[in-house]
Amino acid sequence: MSVGYSPKTLAEAQEALGKRPVKVAGATDLLVIDHATGREHAAVLNVLGIAELQGIQVDDSGLNMGAASTFTQIRRSAGVVRHAPLLASAAATIGAAQIQNRATIGGNIANASPAGDSLPALLALNARIVIAGPRGRRVVPYDSFHTGYRTTLLEVDELIARVIVPLPSPTVQIFRKVGTRAAQAISKVVVAISGNRAGGSGLKDVRVAMGSIAAVPTRLLEVEALIQSEPLSAGLADRAAALVEKVITPIDDIRSTAEYRRHVAGQVVRRALLVLLEAPTE
Ligand SMILES: Cc1cc2nc3c(=O)[nH]c(=O)nc-3n(C[C@H](O)[C@H](O)[C@H](O)COP(=O)(O)OP(=O)(O)OC[C@H]3O[C@@H](n4cnc5c(N)ncnc54)[C@H](O)[C@@H]3O)c2cc1C
Repeated sequence: MSVGYSPKTLAEAQEALGKRPVKVAGATDLLVIDHATGREHAAVLNVLGIAELQGIQVDDSGLNMGAASTFTQIRRSAGVVRHAPLLASAAATIGAAQIQNRATIGGNIANASPAGDSLPALLALNARIVIAGPRGRRVVPYDSFHTGYRTTLLEVDELIARVIVPLPSPTVQIFRKVGTRAAQAISKVVVAISGNRAGGSGLKDVRVAMGSIAAVPTRLLEVEALIQSEPLSAGLADRAAALVEKVITPIDDIRSTAEYRRHVAGQVVRRALLVLLEAPTE
């Protein structure tokens, strides 16, 4: 027999969190894992009713998204489409419509799968995570949130409350997911690229983030430095692709081989740069 908590506010949730319940949002990961393992929970806290975890708005902090926002809400949000189109694209690739209607961004982040599609997008957008718990709230840069394979900065009695993308957001935003199919496919490689146009045909503020190529979503700092070191050209795109292949160390698993992941990751970056070369302004 388990205890269920359905707090309506963070203040109510704080009290219940002290009892260390398992948090549940859309349950699209949790139920799959519970079913596979036969695991049972003594206490469960439903985060979907917490007012402070709802809603997507643009405010002084930036594009401010409740952790309980579903991917359908995210991809349909005018604010997300305008300021974070690469996140809207990521949301559109998660599962199919049924999953997008249930799955939340907070659940995707907390589940911390290396294949989670929103994770590289948030890394490329330099997001911040608002965490809430019995000791109050704290804001952490998403860059530092994932500490290892499926481990995060989140304490057992804390919630992800909100996800914030600082504004103005980058004017260049590209998201590519490579999977077996267009829908219902777990990614083999996810690439999110952001930046701003520099003078001429160059780029600045470049962030290149990838998923499914390491234990945590990863920024490719050397590739970013190369891309912004000179104007865009076909030669630069080729060298960036070669550098991607050199710096990433993906693994073989049931979804793909390391060799395929390395090759396709490089080619996705190469093609993205060629598209930007052909399209002089956003
Ligand atoms: C058929 C299918 C297809 C899928 N396809 C994809 C895909 O293409 N891409 C992809 O990335 N994922 C995919 N998933 C995985 C899953 O849908 C996502 O990871 C989803 O975002 C999880 O969100 P949720 O709200 O359902 O989380 P839940 O299952 O409710 O929770 C997941 C984990 O997060 C924790 N949690 C939830 N909310 C919070 C919070 N606010 N604060 C702290 N911890 C929290 C829970 O305790 C749990 O550990 C798929 C799943 C299924 C079943």
